[in-house]
Amino acid sequence: MIDFHCHLDLYPGPVAVVAQCIKQQIYVLSVTTVPSAFEGTVKLVPPDSRIRTALGLHPALVEKRSRELALFEKLLPQTRYVGEIGLDGSRECRATIDMQREVFRHILHLCARSGGKVLSLHSRGAIVPLLDDFTSEPEAGTAVLHWFVGSARQVARAVELGCWFSVGPSMLASERGRAAAATMPMDRVLPESDGPFGLMEGKPIYPWEAWKVCVSLAQLWDEPVKQIERRLQSNFRKLVLPSTQKRLE
Ligand code: MN
Repeated sequence: MIDFHCHLDLYPGPVAVVAQCIKQQIYVLSVTTVPSAFEGTVKLVPPDSRIRTALGLHPALVEKRSRELALFEKLLPQTRYVGEIGLDGSRECRATIDMQREVFRHILHLCARSGGKVLSLHSRGAIVPLLDDFTSEPEAGTAVLHWFVGSARQVARAVELGCWFSVGPSMLASERGRAAAATMPMDRVLPESDGPFGLMEGKPIYPWEAWKVCVSLAQLWDEPVKQIERRLQSNFRKLVLPSTQKRLE
């Protein structure tokens, strides 16, 4: 099983959640929301597990935590994975959008300078500026658009830019989320929980529940669940291949 966007450090009792992920041999991308949380989150997992920790600065926290950008830059060489980063243009965060963009562009530039990373991107209410900024920094790496609720045209634009998508049960619980996922190419999609923020029937989704998207995707894409499971596994392998191999493809 795979969960390509999860906030392991923010669950109540993260140690037990990690233990369960290891027991069930789940591949997890453990994203963080501030650079000062990165090292503690790395320490939650044994180095030989299938869990990878991403360095992040969530757009909703940019205003309060922009001082941590220096720490972000210092920690960046320690990981191939960056997230959660991005832009949030929703009502609660709109006031800081200029600062968010400045920080987002700076981070993309740092990623480009360090040879490119795998990026888990937040785009709520800000899809157009996010894709614009990513277009301006093409060497930043491979973007995985998390919970991307875009129109068919926006999905197509993202695909054209080489973007991937991570899709979770909460996203697929909404009509708009299902409509977006239906237009995504099957070979660019990965599962996510976005737990503990992602909810299913009012309860936080756990990494081992992200795999349930296979059932919803099977309906949307009109394929057997087994086939979808194989697709998502092969997508994951393709995405996480060492970057040297990826360049040779
Ligand atoms: Mn998230």
